[in-house]
Amino acid sequence: MPHGRSTASILASGCFGRCPRCGQGRLFDGVLKVTDKCEACGLVFSGHDAGDGPAVAVIFILGTAMVGLAWLLELIMSPPLWVHAVVWIPLTVIGSVALLRPLKGLTVAIQYRYRAVDEPEMPGGT
Ligand SMILES: [Zn+2]
Repeated sequence: MPHGRSTASILASGCFGRCPRCGQGRLFDGVLKVTDKCEACGLVFSGHDAGDGPAVAVIFILGTAMVGLAWLLELIMSPPLWVHAVVWIPLTVIGSVALLRPLKGLTVAIQYRYRAVDEPEMPGGT
C-alpha cells in the first residue's frame, strides 16, 4: 500500500481534490486542470491523464438525472418551455463542473493507487 494509506483514504483524497499520495497538497490548479506537481510531497501528476472517463460518467449520471427531473416537472406542472430552459440549462452547467472535479480527482487517485502510470521512485523507496 503506497505510503501506508488505505485505498479508501487515497480515493477520498482524490474526490476532495487532494494529492492521493500525501492527502495534503492540492490536486487541481484552477477548476478542472490537474496541477503539475504536488506542493506538499512532490508527486508529479504529468503522467496521470484522466482522459474522457470522468466526462462520460458525468454525461451518464447528470443526463439521466436531468432528463428524469425535467420529465417529472413536465408531468407535475406542465410549465412553458422557457421555464425548462431557465431551470435545466444552468443546473446542467453547474452540475457538470461540480461532478467533473471529484470524478477527475477520483480517476487520478485510482491511477495512482493501482500504478496505472509510471512514477519515479521516491528517495528511500515507496
Ligand atoms: Zn502530495
